Amino acid sequence: MSRLDSFIARMQAQRDCLNFLKPAIDAIAGPLLEVGLGNGRTYDHLRELFPGRDIYVFERKVAAHPDCIPPDDRLFLGDADRTIEEAARRLGPTAALIHTDLGTGDHEANVAMGKWLGPALDRLAAPGGYVLANQSLAVSRWQRQPDPPGVPKDRYFLYRVR
Ligand code: SAM
Repeated sequence: MSRLDSFIARMQAQRDCLNFLKPAIDAIAGPLLEVGLGNGRTYDHLRELFPGRDIYVFERKVAAHPDCIPPDDRLFLGDADRTIEEAARRLGPTAALIHTDLGTGDHEANVAMGKWLGPALDRLAAPGGYVLANQSLAVSRWQRQPDPPGVPKDRYFLYRVR
């Protein structure tokens, strides 16, 4: 698979997972969390899928398309290890959906990050809510769900929070 094929497959998987979750998230109260704004593509998709829902965004340094920058009062700016703590104090375990896409191309760094990221995000996840992650995250309260239709195995990791 070329790097272009791989990029397209990753984008398709992101979109298919978010679309798949729409009915389930519509049935759950609480904000949505976008962890890693990047270009703002998945944030924009969440805004389209869930108009009127509160979407909080975590990003170390905003460099998104100008149309895809969240309002100041919905942005946790800075390193996620600090801002997730801040959000947990402010929002508590209320999130209906957490979408996290923080990774880099460095596998070892992603594995190390996953060790603190899962437990940190757990403090924000509402019981019955969902976590969609670009990497495997081990949290005892989270139950891995089957891949949505058409999404290749282990490209994305979907969890239901107990
Ligand atoms: N899903 C996004 C999109 O559709 O455009 C792409 C996200 S991009 C792959 C990852 C983003 O996470 C980058 O913008 C990076 O700055 C941010 N990021 C990575 N590690 C971070 C950390 N520890 N704290 C806060 N932001 C971080």
